[in-house]
Amino acid sequence: MSLPHSKNALSDPLPGAFEYHVPTRIVFGSGCFDSLAGYSHALGHRPLIVTGKNSARRIGALDRALAQLDHASVFDAVEENPGTSTCEHAADLCRQLGCDHVIAIGGGSPIDVAKAVAGLALNEGACADHFGSGGLAKGAMPLIAVPTTAGTGSEVTPYSVLVDEASGTKRTITSKALFPKVAILDPGLTKHLPRSVTIHTGLDVLSQAMEGIVSKKSTPLGDALALDACRRVRTYLPHAARDGEDTVARAEMLYASMLSGCVIAQAGTTLVHGMGYYYTLECGVAHGLANGLLLAPLFRYNAQHAPERVAAMVAALGGNPSGELGLEITACLHRLFAELEMSPAAADHGVRPDQLERFARDVGSDPYRFRNQIGEITERLICEFYESSLQGN
Ligand code: NAP
Repeated sequence: MSLPHSKNALSDPLPGAFEYHVPTRIVFGSGCFDSLAGYSHALGHRPLIVTGKNSARRIGALDRALAQLDHASVFDAVEENPGTSTCEHAADLCRQLGCDHVIAIGGGSPIDVAKAVAGLALNEGACADHFGSGGLAKGAMPLIAVPTTAGTGSEVTPYSVLVDEASGTKRTITSKALFPKVAILDPGLTKHLPRSVTIHTGLDVLSQAMEGIVSKKSTPLGDALALDACRRVRTYLPHAARDGEDTVARAEMLYASMLSGCVIAQAGTTLVHGMGYYYTLECGVAHGLANGLLLAPLFRYNAQHAPERVAAMVAALGGNPSGELGLEITACLHRLFAELEMSPAAADHGVRPDQLERFARDVGSDPYRFRNQIGEITERLICEFYESSLQGN
């Protein structure tokens, strides 16, 4: 019997072997943040709560957490795109106060700092001693992650992405010990996200899902989650951007964000992220938007190397998978940008043409940045991707 072959879903044969590991307990639902204390008490007696500088307090989440937890201490100095010295400072505090577990409340930045704190609290050395995988020999303190953006999916990944202040680049600590023990996803915490942060973080969700499908390390389980995330972002991100109080759209986006985290926890990210970090660190473009601006050129290229995968994505994004895939995927992305009232041209977000050659040289000289990318990547190609992204085509 031959199975129906549909371009709406991935129909590749199963790979001979794969591993899929997300050990995080996922608690989802409106109001579930009020059950934080139960999960915290199961992990220890003295939590360190890690937050950004303003939003956790402003949206009332910090007060709601402190009202539930008698012996909690707070580190509330995490900046966007956090640096290693913030983590080391917070880890010192964690040790001095005798904390026994960590609770992150915030976007990807506080969650990543909380992970580094959980690792540094049990291991000698600084962040730089643990970049890459294979560090954190003594594991990490247990961690609860409460995302307030939708998002990065960091609440279900084993990564802590930090700015290495020595090199000025983003580097990652990867360890299974960094998977949060519990992820508490309460959509109500995202309802005050400003429109810009809603859009930028939503594009990160889309980027992670799309990259996961074409990654050299994609898994069949992850592919199913990634396509689901693409469909939800396509449908609900415009609603969440238009009306932040749309509780259905907020819940859908928080769920899609978590799905995209489950995807990259296995598949990692690809050249989109490798290139996007330069837009963020050198041009001040928000992390998710930086990735979103690179999707069209990269996925025209991916369409040549993984047409069936890109066809499935085109279908998930509401396009025609039987058309010319490079054109179709570009049209899908540009339609989404138009609905979000965003220019897809990096030039309109502060990127200058004279920066691109250097970015391409830096990325091209560090193949680790695109180790999961399919195709044969050269510095020339990277420069062409940047140039297309600059012009938004
Ligand atoms: P973010 O840097 O955590 O937060 C962006 C802004 O949103 C901040 O100004 C923050 O304010 C504010 N904010 C957060 N929640 C809010 C809320 N509910 N209402 C109003 N404002 C709110 O942004 P992000 O995009 O979530 O995280 C990006 C970082 O995550 C990057 O460093 C990226 O490299 C990393 N990342 C990590 C992973 C992983 O698996 N580890 C995956 C993807 C991305 P405050 O600063 O005052 O809180």
